[in-house]
Amino acid sequence: MKVLRSKEYVVHLKEDLKARVLQLKQRGVYPNVVVLLVGEDAASKAYAKMKGKIADQLGISYQLEEMPATVTTEEMIAKIHALNADENVHGVMVEMPLPKSLNEEEIIQSLDPQKDMDGIHPMNMGYLLKGQGHTLPNTPLAAMALLELGKVDLEGKIALVVGRSNIVGKPLAQLLLGKNATVMMCHSRTPHLEEWTRQADVLCVACGQSRLIKADMVKEGAVVIDIGMNYDDETGKLTGDVDFEKVAEKASLITPVPGGVGPVTTVMIFKQLLDRLEAKEKA
Ligand code: NDP
Repeated sequence: MKVLRSKEYVVHLKEDLKARVLQLKQRGVYPNVVVLLVGEDAASKAYAKMKGKIADQLGISYQLEEMPATVTTEEMIAKIHALNADENVHGVMVEMPLPKSLNEEEIIQSLDPQKDMDGIHPMNMGYLLKGQGHTLPNTPLAAMALLELGKVDLEGKIALVVGRSNIVGKPLAQLLLGKNATVMMCHSRTPHLEEWTRQADVLCVACGQSRLIKADMVKEGAVVIDIGMNYDDETGKLTGDVDFEKVAEKASLITPVPGGVGPVTTVMIFKQLLDRLEAKEKA
């Protein structure tokens, strides 16, 4: 068994991105992103702050705009339209989840697809479906980057994704398909989950259920990518969706939580921003 930790990879990636930011600045492009944060959700605040820290490390200008939970959908859309029109703003992120009072879908659709840093605009999702990914959702992209780092050949393998959210499970399945894996998807309505997971050569888990995947649910020698991030209410400790210690004894390769997919996701946000800015220069 090999534990695929992302720390070193993230350090290299950040160094590379820092150099690319410098080069862009030398050519007169100053990468600048805006994050819209609504309400007081502690996890969203912490995530927005962490992204700000990484942007700062990379030399990317990062503006966090906090809005009260009483903001209306129309006000949010007006704000996003103004950011879409501002040519000094290169990327916009709306911190999710939004308060239930807001129309999330309308807000997502108001984003300029070219500035959609999370790859959640329907146009970007459509490109993904066609295998012509422009901006992709960052977490699936991070999972794919780790599979590549671990030199996992996906061609012809059975890859199973547990979880079918629009932001993680579905796009990840699409990306695995793009690498010629035979892809299966499971979700909360899948009976006898273990009968499916045991077939997987590559098991990717994103269901938000702490340590759901036990060793007896995993094929001997499988590659296991744990995307889950669950905070224990009592200890505050971060756990994945996989029972790491026991599953690690059976897996040929496994990503830990923390220290696996999560840190790569945050850096992917900025990597994709720079990819877009460089492509725009060349166009
Ligand atoms: P969602 O809650 O949107 O989706 C969870 C998915 O898991 C749903 O499709 C749900 O099925 C499925 N599911 C829930 N319970 C079970 C179960 N018992 N058996 C099988 N499937 C189940 O979560 P996200 O996709 O946004 O996130 C998933 C996990 O990934 C979370 O732990 C989240 O914190 C983490 N995450 C990690 C990131 C990172 O950077 N590492 C970034 C984003 C998320 P159904 O559709 O039927 O309800």
